[in-house]
Amino acid sequence: MALIVHKYGGTSMGSTERIRSVAQRVAKWVRAGHQLVVVPSAMSGETNRLLGLAKELMPDAAAGTPEALRELDALAATGEQVSVGLLALALQAQGLQAVSYGGWQVPIKTDSAYTKARIESIDDTRVRADLAAGKVVIITGFQGVDAHGHVTTLGRGGSDTSAVAVAAALKADECLIYTDVDGVYTTDPRIVPEARRLSSISFEEMLEMASMGSKVLQIRSVEFAGKYRVPTRVLSSFTPWDIALEEEMRSGTLITFEEDEKMEQAVVAGIAFNRDEAKISVIGVPDKPGIAYMILGPVAEANIDIDVIIQNVSHDGRTDFSFTVHRNDYARTMAVLQSVVMPATGAARLAGDAKICKVSIVGIGMRSHVGVASTMFRTLSEEGINIQMITTSEIKTSVVIDEKYMELAVRALHKAFDLEQPSA
Ligand code: ADP
Ligand code: ASP
Ligand code: MG
Repeated sequence: MALIVHKYGGTSMGSTERIRSVAQRVAKWVRAGHQLVVVPSAMSGETNRLLGLAKELMPDAAAGTPEALRELDALAATGEQVSVGLLALALQAQGLQAVSYGGWQVPIKTDSAYTKARIESIDDTRVRADLAAGKVVIITGFQGVDAHGHVTTLGRGGSDTSAVAVAAALKADECLIYTDVDGVYTTDPRIVPEARRLSSISFEEMLEMASMGSKVLQIRSVEFAGKYRVPTRVLSSFTPWDIALEEEMRSGTLITFEEDEKMEQAVVAGIAFNRDEAKISVIGVPDKPGIAYMILGPVAEANIDIDVIIQNVSHDGRTDFSFTVHRNDYARTMAVLQSVVMPATGAARLAGDAKICKVSIVGIGMRSHVGVASTMFRTLSEEGINIQMITTSEIKTSVVIDEKYMELAVRALHKAFDLEQPSA
């Protein structure tokens, strides 16, 4: 008997028919003798619908006061509340014992950073007692409760993190992330149909892919998987529910923790892209010590995360300074620069571009192979794509380009690194 955590995403929970299929799959695992904890997301489209309603009544709530953010979280969390109730009923209809909990009932304790809260601890007492009593335990994804009893949410896509964190707290034997694709691919198969499924991916590569924009797993879920060594597999909820258990357990993509266990030794494991950023340039700032701090200090004080940064060489004692922020923070960043940074630095002007995207190649093989980045730059140049910014780490190279070239860039790079071919 093993303790298994299943996570089902929005599409997998998208209708009562889909929920019935989830219940049948879970029942199959229980009947094979396993203990099951299930973490579902809201039904597809539901979180967007709820946040859309909020927007009608308060258009800028997401950039608003803590009081407004509190209500956004209380509202958004209801999507998952519906899912757990429906799934518990569907399981009971299959003749199983099942009980559902909201994050606050477990409790899953988080900090108070509404809309992007971090899990601090999970009390497993109640869940273990239910499992011991033979029940399937169903826990809302995406949410928890802070020290003051307020409901919080973990950021979009956060049900992945709930599931892996619950698996870590319970020391589960496996965490299975069921979704609408049959694993992690070399790139988003919706953009490149020739993308290839990876039977395994190293934890470090998955972390980099997620942080560079592959939304197949939320980055914090990968962090939890790594920190607590949770055996985590991404697989499809769209296979027939009655597929043999052994076959199901071998399907999808396993996140591995040992490099030498890696079966696929390609230099580049995958390509990620992110359309959520905007670029801002402060033009004609005096090139003197402390200028980066004078520009970025007030931005950081406004709680805005900065990603790629470049400072140009100076001419006549002046330079240009560019960086990227999340698109949601674009207007706020421009306002801070206009009101605080421009007067303080005497910069000539500000320029902004929200129509950019970041494309990244990721692979642990990049540590030991030279020329990978130059292949990337050559490929983009052959397609006539101008690179606006470059950033690298040990196992990835990212470029910022015009958003309209994103698909072309991803396809060209996918080909250039031979990602559609099974590696030898
Ligand atoms: P869920 O609702 O199950 O959490 P998501 O929509 O959050 O599903 O994540 C699954 C989606 O991630 C896929 O439908 C796919 O379009 C996208 N995706 C992005 N990059 C990748 C990748 N490298 N491999 C697989 N899927 C990817
Ligand atoms: N329902 C939430 C969202 O849409 C969480 C998730 O799906 O993982 O972001
Ligand atoms: Mg998701």
